[in-house]
Amino acid sequence: GSDGRSVDEIVSSRRQNLLPNLSISYSEPIKFVRGEGAYLIDHRGRAYLDCFNNVCHLGHAHPEVVEALSHQAGLLNTNTRYLHDNIVEYSERLTATLPDDLAVASFVCTGSEANSLMIRMAEAHTGRRDAVVLDWAYHGTTPELIALSPYKYKRNGGKGRPDHVFEAAIPDAYRAPADWAPEEITARYVQSVAEQLDLMKKQGRAPAFFIAESIPSVAGQVFMPDGYLDEVYKLIRAEGGLCVADEVQVGFGRVGSHWWAFETQGVTPDVVTMGKPIGNGHPMAALVTTREVAKSFNNGMEYFNTFGGNPVSCAVGLSVLNVIERDGLRENARVVGDYILSGFHKMMEKYEFIGDVRGMGLFLGVELVKDRKTKEPATDMAKRVANRAKDLGILMGTEGPYDNVLKMRPPMIFSKENADYLLDVLDQAMNESVSALETM
Ligand code: PMP
Repeated sequence: GSDGRSVDEIVSSRRQNLLPNLSISYSEPIKFVRGEGAYLIDHRGRAYLDCFNNVCHLGHAHPEVVEALSHQAGLLNTNTRYLHDNIVEYSERLTATLPDDLAVASFVCTGSEANSLMIRMAEAHTGRRDAVVLDWAYHGTTPELIALSPYKYKRNGGKGRPDHVFEAAIPDAYRAPADWAPEEITARYVQSVAEQLDLMKKQGRAPAFFIAESIPSVAGQVFMPDGYLDEVYKLIRAEGGLCVADEVQVGFGRVGSHWWAFETQGVTPDVVTMGKPIGNGHPMAALVTTREVAKSFNNGMEYFNTFGGNPVSCAVGLSVLNVIERDGLRENARVVGDYILSGFHKMMEKYEFIGDVRGMGLFLGVELVKDRKTKEPATDMAKRVANRAKDLGILMGTEGPYDNVLKMRPPMIFSKENADYLLDVLDQAMNESVSALETM
């Protein structure tokens, strides 16, 4: 019928025809049929407020993006070997959001492709392939990126840390050892990187690059302590390595105060990779680097990417930048993000099991613990709250090494009313979870 296939039919067909390692969110799977603004609407017509998606930066099915896409798709789509206005206009506009040194753009189709291209550039520039990563990081889906992703290689199905990859500690101030004085935290976590560089030296190695999400997200919405990246970049550069900011999740003004999350640490990377929100759902991604790195990469071998930088994708990318700027969405992210964060702080006074709340703009985390002193992760509670929030109409995720951090990345158009709804639902879900635990 007009409703399409039932939930059960889709689940069973997925089992027949798709990879078994695709996961499905929630024990009762949701079938969405439409998106509008901050909302997703399921096949029964029920609306859910999407606080998780990250990709639908301007809201689902944003009319201007849809118009830019369909207009250009109806006119022309080709590749970068022919001249077109869109790619040059887009590269000018995108690099204008970045510090001056980050002047050369390259367009690809996924965040993984951007990071893979980065590896090739770093190898061309440094003549090395060894890397320093942060623990519990995720950087993409190809073999060379799984190799940079402790989140994958340390877990089920992973083969462990490869020899050419060196892991530094997650710079998580909340989970810093209790015997570190607060003013030592930055230096201690920087020391963890220094130790990895020493280890490399002892093995006769040196870094091609250091890569980190500017706000480690897969590691649990972790905000680096002040000054951390600046110190780490100095250490890496002293060894001749490139500094790479993975902004796939955190970029495009999500932090509110800045376009790029690395700016909140006062650093300028040598390479920035971007994806997810860049096309508001259209599959595109980008890498921006310095003229020096671009020059090293230009070794005589053509770089050609069939779909990367095509006129349709560039039209979409341009429309996303236009809407962020015209509608003041960074400012909105800052104001509404601060409002949500202050709501979280109030909840923290009410619920003992909230160990930490953190956020910048519309990138937010609430860490749940069984005991504020021991910080023992309350993983089941986080799952329960996220599931109950879904029943009450809010989509969020859980994240981090203990999967005990409620993770929220709502669209940049998120309103104060949306925020109130989110806070009300979280409060109810937490309240019920406490009573549920007490009666267990
Ligand atoms: N880097 C980070 C930080 C990511 O979160 C992701 C996707 N989850 C990627 C890279 C890879 O992006 P994609 O899935 O578009 O290849």
